Amino acid sequence: MENQEITALKEALAKSPDNIPLRHILAHKYFLGHELRQAEQEYKIILEQDTENTAAKEGLAEIFFKDGRYSRVIVIAEELVGKKTATERLMVLYAKSLLREKSQDEAQEIYEKIMEYNPDFIDDELDFFLRMPAYNDHYEDEDEEAGFLPFDMEFGPGPQDSDFFMEKPQLTFKDVGGMDNIKEEIDIKIIKPISHAEMFEIFGKKTGGGILMYGPPGCGKTYIARATAGEINAHFISVGIQDILDMWIGRSEKNMGYIFDVARRNTPCVLFFDEMDALGASRSDMKNSSGRHVINQFLSELDGVSASNEGLLILGATNAPWHLDNAFRRPGRFDRILFVPPPDDKGKKEILRLYLKNKPQKDIDIDKVVARTHQYSGADIKAIVDLAVEYKLRLSMKAGDIQPLETEDLLKATEQHRSTTAEWFQIARNYALFANESGIYNDILKYIS
Ligand code: ATP
Repeated sequence: MENQEITALKEALAKSPDNIPLRHILAHKYFLGHELRQAEQEYKIILEQDTENTAAKEGLAEIFFKDGRYSRVIVIAEELVGKKTATERLMVLYAKSLLREKSQDEAQEIYEKIMEYNPDFIDDELDFFLRMPAYNDHYEDEDEEAGFLPFDMEFGPGPQDSDFFMEKPQLTFKDVGGMDNIKEEIDIKIIKPISHAEMFEIFGKKTGGGILMYGPPGCGKTYIARATAGEINAHFISVGIQDILDMWIGRSEKNMGYIFDVARRNTPCVLFFDEMDALGASRSDMKNSSGRHVINQFLSELDGVSASNEGLLILGATNAPWHLDNAFRRPGRFDRILFVPPPDDKGKKEILRLYLKNKPQKDIDIDKVVARTHQYSGADIKAIVDLAVEYKLRLSMKAGDIQPLETEDLLKATEQHRSTTAEWFQIARNYALFANESGIYNDILKYIS
């Protein structure tokens, strides 16, 4: 049913059809009520009566913009800019339409003109896409050759610089030694809901939510996230939270929104957030309102408030889960929290074999090496293989023939390389003993006892 105000305006206009201000009001009311065809009609009547009516042209530009008819907005704006009668609002629509029509350079020019007239001008979208150094400058052929895809170029420039890259990893679960329970959890919680979506639907099982991994450094959190993408041939975007926290108010949220947008346009996509503790509510830089904003933005993106998260696999990692805001742990968000400990003996053996594969070697006693790797992370194990290889490479070059790796080389390397997880356990121990509400850190206690 037609709104009473509109009925009254129409009646008044029926009596005085040449009343242009009244028709403007009616057109605007239609516009506000999303009745774009009627609004367009009214503005056109005004232009029949007064071909130079700038406000009616601007009104049409608003309608075309809302309708996605950007080339029409551009035609109107070009005319009014030429006549020097364009308002700031029209210039904004002009710049945005150029952006959407992929005329980045022209959009930049118009944006600069707006800023020239009004240095205090603020507009989220234009500031985000045009104020930053052109992302395209960072996009070099080498990136592509290295197997990196820059962020969806169709979407325009990305945040700040090339911090974030999307890749399609070749790595799969079989390249990850040990971590059996983590692989299983990832499989059930986030891979199966995508690969067997129909079954989940038939059983009415809710999907969504991500997995947060925590534990000492170098134990494979990032590695397994990348392998998850390789496992299902998905894109992989790794985001260091610290990188997207921007000193400019408002920009961190936009960076966050942008990353989710890119991931949603490239599903299936594993979106991996590292350094999740940087979003900890207890941190001083998160206590101010801009810190809260970025947390809220992240939460609403996780909840899929404005767009569906179908096809997104969300993984997070942190070394300091105790700093993390509790809001992240609610259902549908990071509702599985997994401790990623240093590998057990079986895991260590697998990792050693993985890194020794295809290298010249002679009768290596894996068990003997493993026995010397107390609290070693996966990265520590890789490090001793690297040390032993360097040593044998030097010897081989000196001798002029291949000197294979032996047990002794690896044992010697364990003497040079100390475990890098001990320090973490010292800190974690205190939290597990004294701040273990609801038993969240029981796994740490189990590990250290
Ligand atoms: P941080 O907390 O410091 O980010 P992380 O847990 O994310 O550490 P990764 O970056 O995944 O650790 O691991 C470092 C490197 O160690 C990997 O790139 C990989 O080479 C090796 N690595 C760690 N764990 C494993 C594993 N289970 N299998 C094979 N390689 C591993």
